[in-house]
Amino acid sequence: MYAEIIVDIASEQVDRVFTYAVPDMMPVQPGMRVKVPFGPREKEGFVIRLKDDPGYDESKIRPILSTLEDYPALLPELMELAWEIRQKAHCPLCEALRLMLPAEMRGGRIKVKTEEYVKLLIPQDQVEEAISRQGRSAKRKLLLTLLSDGRPHSLEELRAMIRDVRPALQFLVEKEMIQVYEKEALRSPYYGSADASPDPELTDEQTEALSELIPALHAPQKPFLLHGVTGSGKTEVYIRLVRKALSMGKGAIILVPEIVLTPQMINWFRSRFGDTMAVLHSRLSPGERFDEWRRIRFGDARIVIGARSAVFAPVDNLGVIIVDEEHEQTYLSDRFPQYDAREIAVSRGKRENAVALLSSATPSIYSYAMARRGDYMLLEMPHRVLNRPLPTIHLVDMRKELRLGNHGMFSNLLLQKLDDCIGKGQQAMLFINRRGYASSVNCRKCGETIRCDRCDVSMTYHSVDQTLRCHYCGAVRPMPKTCPACQSTYIRPMGTGTQKVEEELNKRFPGAGVIRMDVDTTGGKNAHFELVDRFRAGQAKILLGTQMIAKGLDFPRVTLVGAVMADLTLNFPDYRAPERTFQLLVQVAGRAGRGERPGEVVIQTYQPDHYAIAGAATQDYRAYFDREFQRRKADLYPPFTMMARFLCEAKEMEVAKATAEMLRERVTKEFSDTPLGRRILFIRSDEAPINRIQDRARAHVLMKLLNHPDTDGILSRLQEMAGEDYAARVVLEINPASLA
Ligand code: ADP
Ligand code: ZN
Ligand code: ZN
Repeated sequence: MYAEIIVDIASEQVDRVFTYAVPDMMPVQPGMRVKVPFGPREKEGFVIRLKDDPGYDESKIRPILSTLEDYPALLPELMELAWEIRQKAHCPLCEALRLMLPAEMRGGRIKVKTEEYVKLLIPQDQVEEAISRQGRSAKRKLLLTLLSDGRPHSLEELRAMIRDVRPALQFLVEKEMIQVYEKEALRSPYYGSADASPDPELTDEQTEALSELIPALHAPQKPFLLHGVTGSGKTEVYIRLVRKALSMGKGAIILVPEIVLTPQMINWFRSRFGDTMAVLHSRLSPGERFDEWRRIRFGDARIVIGARSAVFAPVDNLGVIIVDEEHEQTYLSDRFPQYDAREIAVSRGKRENAVALLSSATPSIYSYAMARRGDYMLLEMPHRVLNRPLPTIHLVDMRKELRLGNHGMFSNLLLQKLDDCIGKGQQAMLFINRRGYASSVNCRKCGETIRCDRCDVSMTYHSVDQTLRCHYCGAVRPMPKTCPACQSTYIRPMGTGTQKVEEELNKRFPGAGVIRMDVDTTGGKNAHFELVDRFRAGQAKILLGTQMIAKGLDFPRVTLVGAVMADLTLNFPDYRAPERTFQLLVQVAGRAGRGERPGEVVIQTYQPDHYAIAGAATQDYRAYFDREFQRRKADLYPPFTMMARFLCEAKEMEVAKATAEMLRERVTKEFSDTPLGRRILFIRSDEAPINRIQDRARAHVLMKLLNHPDTDGILSRLQEMAGEDYAARVVLEINPASLA
C-alpha cells in the first residue's frame, strides 16, 4: 500500500504530491496527518490518497514514519475545498490545508490535556463495610465515603478535600478497591450559565422565511440571501433552521463578523442548544480552540458559532451554513492565502448539500446583485418584530447650520434631541467614524468634496506639502484656497478625533457622563466589555465611539443615535465608500429604539442628497442599490472588474515606493503587447492612502483587471512575482477588503 502525501512545507517547489510507502499494520487513511522523511529531515504531511501502485521505482520509495493522530484530521469535503482554494488564492495546497486545522496542531505544539480520575472498583453496597475495615485511617475512610456515590471523581477534586491523599490512594489501589485512570479533559471556553428563555411565537415574516428555508434542508438548491431590517428577528430564524437541521441529524455553522460583538448571539444559541454547540474564534486560548475543534471533529458538538475561519470547521454531514451580517469586511481574510468566507460558505453548501444562508440588513452589492440575477434566492423581512417601528431618521444639512452661524460640530437639532433624551433619563449613542485616516477636503458652505475627475473617488489631503492626491490614479493637485464650486473660503480637510468630541460633550452636558470607545480606550483585554457593561448599567448617558459601537450592540434604553460626521466614510478614497457609508448609517440607526420606546436618529451631513446618505435616511435599500450598481457598471468597478494590488512595506518610504515602482514596470513590460495585457485596465504605483502603519511605510501597485477567465493567468503570474525577494515586504491582494 502507498500513500500520496502533501508535505507541510509552504513553497511552490514542493507543491505536489509525494509517494510514500505505508508500513504494514500502520492504520493510515486519507485525511490523516503523518510524519515522513523529507530529504535529510522529518516533516509533517497530509495523506491525500491511498493507492496500490507506487507509480514508479519501488526501491526509491521511503516509508511513512508515524501517524500524528489516530483519526483523519481532514474531512474529505474539506480536502476537496482545499484544492479549490489553492486554485483561487494561487497558493500551495499545504497552505490551503493549514486553514482547515487549528494552527496549534501543527508541529505538535499543543497536547491533548488529560486529568487523573478515581473510581470505585467494589460494589457500592460493600463500601460501608470496607470503610469499617480501614481502622484508624481517617483519610482512607473519607476517600471511600466520597467515592461511595459510585461516580468517578477527579484527583484534583479529591486533593482539594483531603490533604496529602496519595498514600491513602496507593493503599486502596493495591487492595484493588479503587482505580486511578487518565481521562481526556476538554478545556472549556464558556463562562457563566446561559439563561434559558422560551421560544417566542414567530412573526409572519419569520414564518414565511422559514417556509422557504426548511424544505431546502432536504434538497438545497440555490444559496439564500435574507434581507431583514435591523430588529426583524433574524437570529430567531437561524435558531429554528438550525434546530430543524439538528433533528435531521445534520450539523450547522453560523458565522458572525466578530465574536466580541455577539456575546448575545452565543448566549441565545447556548440557552437553546447547550453543549452541542461549540465556538471558534481568535480570543480562545490555543488549548480551548484545539479542544473545541476536537469536539466538532468527533461529532460531540454539532453546531459551531465562530468568526471567519470557522467556515472551515470540520462539521460532518453539514445541514446549514449561515453568514450573519454578510456585508462585513471581516469575512475577507487579509492574510495569505486570501479567501472570502462567504464564497467558501456558498461553496461548502453546494459541495456538501447544505443550505447556505447569507443574511444582512444591508446586503453587500455583490450578494444582492446575485439575488437579483437569480443566482441566490432572496428572502425579505422588512419589518421589526412586535410591530416595533423603525427609528425616525432626521437628516441635518450642515451647510445650513453654517449659514445660521453654527460653527460647532453639533447641529442645533442634535443638541436639542440630546438635551431631551438626557432630560428624560434615557441614553444616547454618538457615532464618529474611525480616526487616523488621511482626510478628504470638503466645502463647509456648499458641501462640495474634491474628487478625482478620472476615478470618482475623493482626493486625499497631504499636510506635508499641502497637496491633494488621488490614490487610485496618482493625480496631484495643489490644495485650493477657495471652493471650486461656490468660491467660498470654507474649504478644508475634514475630520475630528473622538477625544475632541468627548471634551465638547462634557462641556455641553456636564454630569451626563460620557463613555468613549475607540482604539485608545479599548486596548486592555476586557476593556471593551467593561465599557459596554458600564453603559448598560446606566453609569453614563452618552456612549461616544467609532465603528466599534456601530453594530451588534443591543441597549434597550438607547432612544437617540447621532451620526456626527456621516460624510467621513463617504469620502474615503475607496470605490466602496458609498456602500460602506450606507451600511454603517443603517446599522448605526438600528441601535436606536430596540426596547419599548421608539428611537430617533440624527444624521449630520454636508451631502444630504447623496444617494448613500439619502437612502440610509429613508431606509430604502433598493433605491440605494440601483444607484450604486449603475455607478459600478459605468465606472468599471467590482463586481464588474477585479481590483488587485501589490502592497509593499518597508522601514523607509523610499524603499517601499521604489519596490512598487519596479513591480509596476515589470508587470507593464511583461504583459504589454500580449493578449493578456488587454485585461489590465489600469496599473499605477503610489504611496498607499494610509502610508504608514506601525512604523512601516506602505506603498502599492494598484491594478484594475477585467473579469475574464484569462485574468486567472495574470493573477497566478502576479502571485509568483509577489513570492520573490525584494527590498520591501511584498504581498499580492486580490479584491482586498480595504485599499487603504
Ligand atoms: P436582527 O438580528 O434581525 O436585528 P434580532 O435577531 O437581534 O434582530 O432580534 C431583535 C429582538 O427581537 C431580539 O431581542 C429578539 O429576542 C426579539 N425577537 C425575535 N423574534 C421574536 C419574536 N418572534 N417575537 C418576539 N420577539 C422576538
Ligand atoms: Zn463650496
Ligand atoms: Zn484618480
